[in-house]
Amino acid sequence: MIYFIGAGPGAADLITVRGQKLLEKADVVIWAGSLVNEELLENCRECAEIYNSAKMTLEEVLEVMKKAEKDGKTTVRLHTGDPSLYGAIREQMDQLEKLGIKYESVPGVSSFCGAAASLNLEYTLPNVSQSVIITRLAGRTDVPEKESLRSLAQHNATLVLFLSSGMCEKVQAELLDAGISPQTPAALVYKATWADEKKVLCTVGSLADSAKANGISKTALIIVGDVVSHTNYERSKLYDPTFTTEFRESSK
Ligand code: SAH
Repeated sequence: MIYFIGAGPGAADLITVRGQKLLEKADVVIWAGSLVNEELLENCRECAEIYNSAKMTLEEVLEVMKKAEKDGKTTVRLHTGDPSLYGAIREQMDQLEKLGIKYESVPGVSSFCGAAASLNLEYTLPNVSQSVIITRLAGRTDVPEKESLRSLAQHNATLVLFLSSGMCEKVQAELLDAGISPQTPAALVYKATWADEKKVLCTVGSLADSAKANGISKTALIIVGDVVSHTNYERSKLYDPTFTTEFRESSK
C-alpha cells in the first residue's frame, strides 16, 4: 500500500494526525527533501528505508514503490503542503494503477493556508473578495493561455501565486498590464510556518523591489488583493444579531 501524505507547509507539527500515524508505521518513506521539514522523519521507524525524492526521477520513485510492494511493505510518499497542488501526484498514481498497486491520499495543510495563518489573513472578506485564485506564472511548465495572470487578474479576486517568487518583476508587470492599481495591497511570505519565515507587506507597485530588498526568490508565495490590507469589508451575516440562521434566532 502506498500513502500519499501532505506534510504541511513547514512546521513539523502541522502534519495531520492521520499523516503522522502512517509515517510512524511506514517501512519505506519517499520524502520531498527540497521542501519537507526533515524533523518529520525523526519519528519514523529505526528500520525504515528513507529516500529523498529531490534527487530522484519519477521512474526511480516508482521502482522503490514497486520493490516495497513486492516485499509486502507499506510506503509513505511525503509531499509538501497538500499533495493536490503542484504535487505531481497524478503521474505517480496512474503508473501505480497500471502496476495494480493500491494507493490512498491523506490531505495536508497547504502553504497558502500556512501563509494566511502567518499573516492572520482571511482570504474571503465580505464585500472585498469571495474567491481565491491559486495560480502560477509560466516557467518551465506552461500555463494554459486562458489562465494567464493577465486574464485571471481581471476578476479582482484574491490571487495566490505559487512557484513565481523568482519572477516578481514579471508578476508585477503582468498585474499592472492587466490594469491592477499599483496601490493594490500585496504580500510575500517566504517559508511560511518555518523558523526562518519572512513576511513582507507591500503593494503591487513595490512587489519586485520588496522581493529584492528582502532576498526572496524561492519558497515563497505572492498574495495579491485588498484582503491583505483588510479595510472596508462588511461584517459577516452569520454572526449578525439581526440575522436568523439555522442555529440561532435573530434578536429583532
Ligand atoms: N503542494 C504544495 C505546493 C508545492 S509547489 C502546497 O500545497 O503548498 C512549491 C511551491 O509552493 C514553492 O515554490 C512556493 O511557491 C510554495 N511553498 C511551499 N511551501 C511554502 C512555504 N512554507 N511558504 C511559502 N511558500 C511555500
